[in-house]
Amino acid sequence: MKDSFPVVHIPEPVLREKTEKILDLCDSELQQLIPAMFKTMHKAHGIGLAAPQIGINKAIAVIEIDKIRYVLINPVISSASKEKIIFDEGCLSIPGKEFPIVRSNRVTVRYLDETGKKCKIKTDGLLAIALQHEIDHLSGIVIADRYDQQDQLRELFLQ
Ligand code: ZN
Repeated sequence: MKDSFPVVHIPEPVLREKTEKILDLCDSELQQLIPAMFKTMHKAHGIGLAAPQIGINKAIAVIEIDKIRYVLINPVISSASKEKIIFDEGCLSIPGKEFPIVRSNRVTVRYLDETGKKCKIKTDGLLAIALQHEIDHLSGIVIADRYDQQDQLRELFLQ
């Protein structure tokens, strides 16, 4: 396997597909994929990367914020605050653009780490935004789509 990948951009169809769950955590390709995803993300100066962004239709994403690395396998948002925040988000798959996106201020995310351990993060701020952004990717949703869906929500929020 290559040690990093080119990042795919919209309108590449893989970015709009729902990903498949990962069933075999011991798979050697998966274990090689994880460092390659971090390397790809670092090269592109991102804080998060989801597998569809390198053309792989699997439910895995990586995030690195404040030098803390997260490997998120089959992540799900198990609770999300009603309280919202709006933040100008960028995406490595939509170069040079930012979209103000309304998201929950606080989320709880359950996932498996690279060793297969069940993990739970309850967080807010930038990490909560990044988690929601990457989990969107795993459902085939990019920020341009979220932005289009949020016309009314944004107006309410900005009142
Ligand atoms: Zn993105």
